[in-house]
Amino acid sequence: MTAQATDLLSEALQPELEARREAHLYRSRRTLQGPQTPVTQVDGRELLTFCSNDYLGLANHPKVIERFQQAASQYGVGSGASHLVNGHSAQHHALEEELAAFTGRDRAILFSTGFMANLGTIQALVGKGDAVFQDRLNHASLLDGGLHSGARFKRYQHNDAEHLNRLLSMTDSERKLVVTDGVFSMDGDCAPMQPLIDTCQQHSAWLMVDDAHGFGCLGDKGQGIGASFSQNEVPILMGTLGKAIGTSGAFIAGCDALIETLIQFARPYIYTTAIPPAVAAATRTSLQLVQQEPERREHLNKLIAQFRSGAQQVGLALMDSPTAIQPILIGDDAETLSWSRELENAGLLVTAIRPPTVPKGSARLRVTLSASHTADQVDRLLATLATIAQQRGLPEVTL
Ligand SMILES: *Cc1c(COP(=O)(O)O)cnc(C)c1O
Repeated sequence: MTAQATDLLSEALQPELEARREAHLYRSRRTLQGPQTPVTQVDGRELLTFCSNDYLGLANHPKVIERFQQAASQYGVGSGASHLVNGHSAQHHALEEELAAFTGRDRAILFSTGFMANLGTIQALVGKGDAVFQDRLNHASLLDGGLHSGARFKRYQHNDAEHLNRLLSMTDSERKLVVTDGVFSMDGDCAPMQPLIDTCQQHSAWLMVDDAHGFGCLGDKGQGIGASFSQNEVPILMGTLGKAIGTSGAFIAGCDALIETLIQFARPYIYTTAIPPAVAAATRTSLQLVQQEPERREHLNKLIAQFRSGAQQVGLALMDSPTAIQPILIGDDAETLSWSRELENAGLLVTAIRPPTVPKGSARLRVTLSASHTADQVDRLLATLATIAQQRGLPEVTL
């Protein structure tokens, strides 16, 4: 009897799965039974969570939900087609115009996800004969976009404009694209914007900033770190809508030629279904709340300060982060998992982040704070961390 196809497939796949489990790197999913709120039902149990990217508490905002429901009645659920066929609705179009106005750019274009925006943009802008330069801690979607573009791929040391400058000096490629996270997703620190802008201008390189974690949170109006600089300083701006904005999707903003180039050549834009028009409509409401309710950002900033001073008193190793992403460095993968489990035993959910998402030896608890947390909830997290530190001892991090 010949072996069954599924047996052959399983046999081929099992060793890698086993190896990952043994290395304490196995990932598994949790099932949420409720909305994205600080206290929510996870796998049948009520937990206080510190791992959401819903930084402003808009994912479950009554006005955003109401607008979503109304728009679904009016536009239906599915968009039915890609933007270039007949899936580009009036809601998408209005949202693009409002995103352009909010970020101070000529135009904006919506993508279905941030991952696709990054892949599509980098591949549409550079190819064979060009060069792309990326911070070594950039998000996976940026790295993949660069690696698959066909352009020469160079990584510079994290937040090191001087190193970038040396790499740019050594290149004779025609197009030079420099790509950075605005806020680094696993560390929470910000890109050194002015040195990067100056270096790019000096070498006639194009600067692209991925503001997935800054958009909505940073800047005087919540416009983000990238849009705190002009279109001439940051000509290619990317933002996501699934994090602080609380909905789903992403956008690129910049000059007319950039947006037209993406419409013509960005394959993950052209060959995919547009996000539901009701999501675009709800996002417009969300964008108004970002601008009308600065108290959300103020409260978030208070919680960040409260968490940092409390964690320092416990003696935990924090990173140089002024943002809602406040990782606690543990170092060892198994020890990080143990901390995460102890937190969960106490009713708190904080994700353990391990390689390959972060460099070896720098496993961490990725604490994220949201404007929907209360000061008491942050105190509860700090008290639990203090208890675990007493029982297990402070982690010895050697980077
Ligand atoms: C989350 C994230 C993305 C991807 O955005 P999605 O809309 O979730 O696909 C891209 N870049 C960075 C830095 C991110 O953190």
